[in-house]
Amino acid sequence: MNVREPADQLGYFQKRQKEIVETIRQLVELESPSDVKQSVDRVGTVLASRFSELGGKIKFHPAEKFGKHLQIDFRPRGNKIKPVLLLGHMDTVYPIGTISKMPCRVSKGRVWGPGVLDMKAGIALALHVIEAMLEWNNGKLTRPVTLLLVSDEEVGSASSRAITEKLAGDAAAVLVLEPAYGLHGAVKTARKGVGEYTLQVTGVAAHSGLDFEKGQNAVIELAHQVLEISKLVDPKSGVTLNVGKISGGTRVNVVPATAKATIDVRVASAKDGTEIDRKLRALKPFNPHCSVSISGKMNRPPLERTDAVAGLYLKARDLAQGLGWDLAEAAVGGGSDGNFTASLGIPTLDGLGAVGEGAHAEHESVVISELPRRAALLAGLIQMV
Ligand SMILES: [Zn+2]
Repeated sequence: MNVREPADQLGYFQKRQKEIVETIRQLVELESPSDVKQSVDRVGTVLASRFSELGGKIKFHPAEKFGKHLQIDFRPRGNKIKPVLLLGHMDTVYPIGTISKMPCRVSKGRVWGPGVLDMKAGIALALHVIEAMLEWNNGKLTRPVTLLLVSDEEVGSASSRAITEKLAGDAAAVLVLEPAYGLHGAVKTARKGVGEYTLQVTGVAAHSGLDFEKGQNAVIELAHQVLEISKLVDPKSGVTLNVGKISGGTRVNVVPATAKATIDVRVASAKDGTEIDRKLRALKPFNPHCSVSISGKMNRPPLERTDAVAGLYLKARDLAQGLGWDLAEAAVGGGSDGNFTASLGIPTLDGLGAVGEGAHAEHESVVISELPRRAALLAGLIQMV
C-alpha cells in the first residue's frame, strides 16, 4: 500500500479503526485515578510494553506520590532532526470502581467510559500512529519522536512539570493529545492560565453573649474580602476569579476568630496573571483588628496564541484540508500541560486527541468515526513540523 499521501494515510487508519478502539478499551478498563499510584503504574507498565514492542526506548521517571511518568523515545539512527514531543497523561479524575457504574462499551458510534476522551483515546491514537509510521517507512520513523505520558496532569502536574519543560526545550514542536474542542474537533490554540489561592482571615474570638464587643468577626471580614475579590473579575479580558469554597467559625455562639476562602483564578495572558497575583497579595483588612493573608500562586501560565502556536495551527489546517475537512481552532478556559510548553516559546498545538463529549462526566465518550482522521492528522503533523 502506498501511504505517502495524506488521503492514503487516512485510508490506512480507516481500515484499522477497530484495532484503535480495542486499544482504547484496554486502556479505559485499567482505571487510573491520579491519587492511586499503583493503578497509574499499571497503565504505565502496559503502555511501556506496547511501545517497546514497536522499538521505543522506555524510561520511567520516578514520582513519590504519583505514578511513574513514562517517557518513550524513538530515535531513528543517523537522524539529526529535532524530535517532536507528543504530550499526554495516564491519570483520570475517576475513583477506582467507577468502571462498574460506567463500564467501557461501544454503542451509538461511540466508545464510552471513564477517562476515554480525557485522554485514554489520545494515548491510543499516538500508539497506532507511531505503529503506522514505522510500517510506512520500513520500520524506521522519518524523524525522532518523544512521547511523554505523565501521571499527575489532573491534579496540577506538580511532579511532572520539570520533565515536561525539559523535554519540550529539546523539541521542534509539542503536540498535545488532549481531547479536541467540541464535536467538530477543533484544536486548541489558546488556553487560560490557572491559579489557586487561599485567603486566610484572622480575627478575635469572644463569647457572643458575654463579650460580643471584644470579638473581631473573621467571617464578616471574609465577606468583605470576597466582594472585593469579585471586583477583579473582568470577563472581557478573560479574567475570572471564582471564590469556590469558604469556611469559618467554630460554634454559633462564638464570634469567629478564623475564616478562609479558596479562589480559582483564570487568565488569558501572562500579564494579567502577574497583575491578579499582585492585587490579591495587596488585599488589606477592612477591620483593622483583623488580619488577612493570601497564599497560593498561578500554577499554569496561559497558552497564548503566539506566532509559533498560530503557525503550527496553520500547518494542521492545511493538512486537514488535504484530508477533506475544515479544522477549526478554539480558545478554552481549562489548562493542560501544553500551557507549560507554549509559555516557554515552543510551538505547541493542543487538542490533537480524540473527538467526543463529556470529559470528567458520566457521558464521557469518543466518536469512533473521527478516530481515523485524528490519527491521519497526527501522523501528518509529526512528519512535517
Ligand atoms: Zn486531560
